[in-house]
Amino acid sequence: QLVPRVQLNDGFSIPQLGFGVFKVDPGETERIVSDALEVGYRHLDTARIYGNEEGVGRAIAASGIPREQLYITTKLWNDDQGDAARVHAAFDASLERLGLEYVDLYLIHWPTPARDRYVETWRAFEHLRDTDRTRSIGVSNFLANHLERLITETGLVPAVDQIELHPYLQQPETTGLAEANGIAIEAWGPLGQGKYPLLELPEVTSAAEAHGATPAQVVIRWHLQLGHIVFPKSNRRERMAENFDVFGFELTSDEMVAITGLEREGRVGSHPDEVD
Ligand code: NAD
Repeated sequence: QLVPRVQLNDGFSIPQLGFGVFKVDPGETERIVSDALEVGYRHLDTARIYGNEEGVGRAIAASGIPREQLYITTKLWNDDQGDAARVHAAFDASLERLGLEYVDLYLIHWPTPARDRYVETWRAFEHLRDTDRTRSIGVSNFLANHLERLITETGLVPAVDQIELHPYLQQPETTGLAEANGIAIEAWGPLGQGKYPLLELPEVTSAAEAHGATPAQVVIRWHLQLGHIVFPKSNRRERMAENFDVFGFELTSDEMVAITGLEREGRVGSHPDEVD
C-alpha cells in the first residue's frame, strides 16, 4: 500500500495515514505496534504521557525497518513546559525511551493556558529543530487564539496542529486559521473514540454499502479526502488492516457533504482551555 504524503510548511512531508497508541497498555505496546508495522503502517503517533514510548521503540528496533522509512511523532507533556533546559531534558528522555537518534515530529501536547508557558516552550522547540534531533515541530490541541498568539509572538509557524476532529466536532475556526497559515491538520479521535455511534449513522452506513466498505473505512476516507492526517488506533490486528485498507475507493461529493453535515460541536475529549 502506498500511503500518500502531506507536504509540511518546513519542507518535510508526513504519511497521511498512521497508527496511534493512546491508551495502548505499555505491556502490550511492543506486540501491538509490531502488528501495525507488519500490516504496513510506517507512521506512529505516541506521547510521553501514554507511558508506552519504550514499547514503541522496541517494536521499531525488532522490525528491522530502516529508520528513514518510518515517521515517528512524540509529544512534550504539560509539566515539562518551560525554559529550554527543561524542554530539552524532556525531549532527550523521550528519545532515549524510544531508542532513536531523532524523531520526525515533536509536539507541545496541550497549550495549558493556565500555566502560560507555551510561548517560551515553543522557542525551545525551535532550538531543538535547529539541532536536527527533531525534523519538524508542531503543536496539539491549540485553538485559533493559541495559534495566533504563538505566531505573533515568535514568528515561527508550527508544521502541524493535532486536534480533536471527527464528524461531530470539526473545529472550523481552528482549521481555517491553520489553513491560512499553511499548518497541516492532524485529526485525533478520528473515529470519535467510539464515544458516540458514529459508525451506525445512516450518512456513514449508506456510503459504506455503496462502496462495499466498512463504516470505519468510510470515516477514514472522509478525513483523508479533506486533507487531514489521521492515525486511528486499534489493539486488534484485523481492525488495523481494515483501517489501513482505504485507498481502493473514493467518497462522492454528496457523501462527503452528508458526513460533514453531522457537525454539532460534539467534543468527546477535554476542552483545551481546561487542561492543565
Ligand atoms: P479513535 O477515534 O482512533 O478511536 C479508537 C477506537 O475506535 C478504538 O479503541 C476502537 O474501539 C475503535 N475502532 C478502531 N478501529 C475500528 C474499526 N475498524 N471498527 C470499529 N471500531 C474501531 O481514537 P484515539 O485512539 O483517541 O485517536 C487516535 C490517536 O490520536 C491516538 O491513538 C493518539 O495517537 C492520538 N490522540 C491524541 C490526543 C492529543 O491530545 N493530542 C488525544 C487523543 C488521541
